[in-house]
Amino acid sequence: MRGHPQSAGAVPVRWLPDPTVTDIMITEQEIQELVAAATAVRTLAYVPYSGYAVGAALRTDNGHIFTGCNVENASYGLTVCAERVAIFKAISDGFDSFRRIAVVADTEDPTPPCGPCRQILWEFAGDIEVILANLREEKGRYRLSALLPLPFDARLLTK
Ligand SMILES: [Zn+2]
Repeated sequence: MRGHPQSAGAVPVRWLPDPTVTDIMITEQEIQELVAAATAVRTLAYVPYSGYAVGAALRTDNGHIFTGCNVENASYGLTVCAERVAIFKAISDGFDSFRRIAVVADTEDPTPPCGPCRQILWEFAGDIEVILANLREEKGRYRLSALLPLPFDARLLTK
């Protein structure tokens, strides 16, 4: 049985205060609100195969919050992560300017977004703040650029 990928290559959890987010002004109340929204939507996760429920809450620049949970499928590869559900909901509702996202899972250490979600977040949200939390209210804060330090994006497609 495969273990949790906490060994080589895993992103170390950095606890508050994270030096990569010192330029971001945010109140503890804003963090709690976003984490609470992610925690609430996590209960709706469709995870009959893994049991690994994740919730995400994305705040737009003008204060709207879009939530998402992971949605699995019997064809495992079709599973969509909570972060992507949240951002696709926001994009499909016409929002395109984002401030931060919170991701909540019931894990020992707060769980960072997977690689594809980092790429999707970079595409639509750029270098936003990423708040990670578990159910024990332990949190980490990162800039997305710290989680995806050399992103591939549209700048590379210009000739
Ligand atoms: Zn993901």
